[in-house]
Amino acid sequence: MKDIMEKLKNYINGKWTESKSAETIDVVNPATQEVMGLAPYGEGTTDDIKQAVTAATTAFKAWRDVPVMKRVQPLYQLKSLLEDIQEELAVIITKECGKTLAESRGEILRAIENIEVACGAPMLIQSEFSENVASGMDEFMIRQPVGVTACIAPFNFPAMISFWFLPYALACGNSMIIKPSEKVPLTMMKIFELIDRLDIPDGLVSLVHGGKESVDAILDHPDIKAISFVGSTNVARYIYSRGTANGKRVQANGGAKNPIVILPDADIEMSTQIINDSVYGCAGQRCLAASVVVTVDDQGDIKESLYESARSRTTGYGLVKEAEMGPVITTESSHRIAQLIQMGIDEGATPLLDGRNAVIEGYETGNFIRPTILENVSLTGELINTEIFGPVMSLVHMKTVDEAIEFINKSAYGNMACLFTSSGASARKFRNQVNAGNVGINIGVAAPMAQFPFSGWKDSFFGDLHGQGRHAIEFFTQTKVVIERWPKDWSRKF
Ligand code: NAD
Repeated sequence: MKDIMEKLKNYINGKWTESKSAETIDVVNPATQEVMGLAPYGEGTTDDIKQAVTAATTAFKAWRDVPVMKRVQPLYQLKSLLEDIQEELAVIITKECGKTLAESRGEILRAIENIEVACGAPMLIQSEFSENVASGMDEFMIRQPVGVTACIAPFNFPAMISFWFLPYALACGNSMIIKPSEKVPLTMMKIFELIDRLDIPDGLVSLVHGGKESVDAILDHPDIKAISFVGSTNVARYIYSRGTANGKRVQANGGAKNPIVILPDADIEMSTQIINDSVYGCAGQRCLAASVVVTVDDQGDIKESLYESARSRTTGYGLVKEAEMGPVITTESSHRIAQLIQMGIDEGATPLLDGRNAVIEGYETGNFIRPTILENVSLTGELINTEIFGPVMSLVHMKTVDEAIEFINKSAYGNMACLFTSSGASARKFRNQVNAGNVGINIGVAAPMAQFPFSGWKDSFFGDLHGQGRHAIEFFTQTKVVIERWPKDWSRKF
């Protein structure tokens, strides 16, 4: 079957185009190991990027002069096209990425919300004007597009993440090249079938496959002016340093190790449900998945409740109705997670639930790991600081909320921190003192809505302006300040 499979095509200059690369990488369904496609990979993809940049440069020259009100029209069209194929798209996401259908549907909605906010660009792009800053002089600021931009995406949200950037880039007058994760390129290809139907210049939006080689070609191409990256911290740091060294704007979102703190005054039933959804939703492969759960002064009730809820969660293929949690992305990933669970145990943790070696009937070859809980993970060991990106809860117990805040603030990451409590004073203190960019109070996944920036801190983000909302508008525009003098006496001529 694989032998007769065709290599996936790029979408460049308004056409489906053969990659220059002879090399490919398998796109694999993580639940069944079925090879679903062959994505172009390796050195040859460098030429694909060059081709896309040439087209994007030409398209940008035309697009930058289209009035902003007209630039948002294709976004309205894209929103409605996406809504028409939501279900088909959700199935593709589940097949290539592993998450459940409900989770796939949810991510499409979050993508669409970003289109809706970007459609506000006619207002958002407006700027400041000061009349008479000096006698006869006015001063104002214009927001202009930056040019050709690129988005490099991770595997865990094949549809949503590019939409933290794409609609804003286009609304602001830029062109964009999207490089999806080589592990999950099919979702974006389906979305490009819709982009192909939009009334936009050829080359304005391109899709180029590949891995490190195509990313390096983006980082080094002098005509790409801005890069939006989402992925692991080591790669984010690399993208930020090489991209900025080449004079580009870069926003690079990295990994995470998200803590949730539960105070004794929290509603146990509600907290349990929400916290376990955060830890085990998308099999823990969310940058806002809770990874460390800190109970404060627990008498055993919360621990018992978290355990019972995790134990009863159904693991299975995301297309099967009963499945509440799907597989992890690759077999390497499941081995890495299994090794990290062992590392936690070797460092002194007790496995309350050990999800390794999970076998799901009918899907025996899938990359499944069941919900895992490691209790009393060492606070001085390696696991407590390592992103697992799998369905593993590290459960630790502390005496006070201050101790919990101090623990959180020592982390190298700062993507999210959440507190469960019924005390307003504790909530206020937590949100004020905690060093994380996305904070939740009685919320398990503090994902900002599209009108707010996706605000990672510390090693979870490199750059200044985040994706989504006003930050995205600022990232995709450069400011030009104009001072004009029109002396009064000149008007006498008329
Ligand atoms: P990844 O870093 O392996 O890959 C991300 C992208 O970078 C892919 O397109 C990949 O092709 C490319 N890439 C990988 N290695 C590279 C290299 N050495 N040089 C250049 N490019 C390279 O990440 P992933 O495994 O796809 O995604 C999971 C990670 O993403 C997790 O760490 C997760 O926390 C993070 N993530 C962060 C956020 C956030 O908002 N902070 C959101 C989603 C995911």
